[in-house]
Amino acid sequence: MPDLLELTGISASYGRIQALSNVSLRVAEGSIVALLGSNGAGKTTTLNTISRLVPVTSGSILFDGKPIENWASHRVVEGGIAQVPEGREVFRDMSVRENLEMGAYRRKDAAAVRSDFERVLDYFPKLRERLQQRAGTLSGGEQQMLLIGRALMMRPRLLLLDEPSLGLSPVLVQQIFGIIDRLHKDGLTILLVEQNAAVALACSNYAYILENGEMALQGFSEQLRRDDGVRRTYLGH
Ligand code: ATP
Repeated sequence: MPDLLELTGISASYGRIQALSNVSLRVAEGSIVALLGSNGAGKTTTLNTISRLVPVTSGSILFDGKPIENWASHRVVEGGIAQVPEGREVFRDMSVRENLEMGAYRRKDAAAVRSDFERVLDYFPKLRERLQQRAGTLSGGEQQMLLIGRALMMRPRLLLLDEPSLGLSPVLVQQIFGIIDRLHKDGLTILLVEQNAAVALACSNYAYILENGEMALQGFSEQLRRDDGVRRTYLGH
């Protein structure tokens, strides 16, 4: 499969803090790629450079073969990249339905929006039961589902997921990753940031590990899971 996303030699900084140095990664169309690393390694910053929320100081970002490193963030979204940010930033005072509709507010294809709405509710039956409920009253797991659902309402070609397991119980983590697996099987391309290396390596095709803003290691997830160094450092074995 061709690469849908290709970062080459990306550097980014916050003032004098260099957050990323010379980071390169590729996401093949139809794959799930995991981006792992400990706290502060630069995972969120990498996603934010792709979404154009953080400027790059050098390097290039190709999406579907086109350079996007100078695009405005709304153009990136319209171009087909949707990010689910870390933490739960649902519109708390709006209903579940309204939150989902917000994901599609720039779209003009009403019939396709309606069918995507149904598709999202098929992925997340819990949300269907709660369409009129105020989003701020959902449980943590339901809010995470709503955030993913809202991103799907943009009908993205590439989904950027930032720590979907954060703060969730093991059962909910399993549920969320079951859905991520289904999205992948249905053809969606996903770049997944996770601190939970065990679940991320189990569901991804390929993985990159960041350390202090630099790419430390990469390989097929299946192989990294069996690598002694990775097991000791990231899987706690
Ligand atoms: P975590 O899992 O804890 O979110 P991360 O791997 O996603 O970590 P980043 O959030 O990308 O890491 O942070 C990378 C580095 O950049 C850290 O040293 C962090 O303190 C710094 N940083 C992140 N955001 C900002 C900001 N808005 N201003 C200044 N420094 C920042």
